[in-house]
Amino acid sequence: MVHFVGAGCGAADLITLRGKELIEKADVIIYAGSLVNPELLSWKKEECPVYNSAKMTLEEVIEVMLDAESKGLDTVRLHTGDPCLYGAIREQMDVLDEHGITYDYCPGVSSLCGAAAAINMEYTLPDVSQSVVITRMAGRTPVPERESLRSFAAHKTTMVLFLSASLLEQSAAELIAGGYDEDTPVAIVYKASWPDEKAFRCTIGTMAECARENQVTKTALIIVGDAVKQSNYRRSDLYNPDFTTGYRKAKGE
Ligand code: SAH
Repeated sequence: MVHFVGAGCGAADLITLRGKELIEKADVIIYAGSLVNPELLSWKKEECPVYNSAKMTLEEVIEVMLDAESKGLDTVRLHTGDPCLYGAIREQMDVLDEHGITYDYCPGVSSLCGAAAAINMEYTLPDVSQSVVITRMAGRTPVPERESLRSFAAHKTTMVLFLSASLLEQSAAELIAGGYDEDTPVAIVYKASWPDEKAFRCTIGTMAECARENQVTKTALIIVGDAVKQSNYRRSDLYNPDFTTGYRKAKGE
């Protein structure tokens, strides 16, 4: 069978215990060499062959899986972060379904979470933002018009841009056209949880320049919105002494 495994967004010890065990037991590994930490491969069985999907087409990936399957071997397909975001797993699963090959899916720590951790950020602060828009700037891969950055910008909520580090001029123009102020705070988190992780603070108006100055063109998340400041929020009700929850009575009640 085939195991889709989220490798985590960088640091090897961010993989789940289950993911590590699957690597240890794998007969064949196909990993996304562009972003998966090669340290993870040190846990594999010595004889386990490794394929780097960065250099392969979908057809070639499937061919490796089918070949392993025909020999009764288990394949681990390692994806960066968590495969549910921009992971291109559905197209693999659909072909496996056509061939009647079973698979499962072990989640991982997405860069969505790794980047927040890098800057100690809570995306959802009471009174500031209670939603996170996860999206990307349209580039070579189109984005449906109804999901344009411009249209999401109208909500002025926390927005996390994937796959957009090289498109920051256009992104800023779209965000401003959609309703964000130019001085809305932005964090650029480069290679979250890798040893060379870096984080930069700027605004929508200066983010393109900030990325250029710091030579950030890929492997970065752009976090946009007032929540980036991590201030002017209301404390949570959950831990408020005057608030009764399902687990705790309000003090004095
Ligand atoms: N499935 C992955 C995302 C794959 S798309 C996940 O869950 O993280 C690849 C994009 O993810 C990159 O262009 C970049 O925007 C982002 N990314 C991946 N790893 C990252 C990291 N360690 N730090 C910052 N951004 C990262």
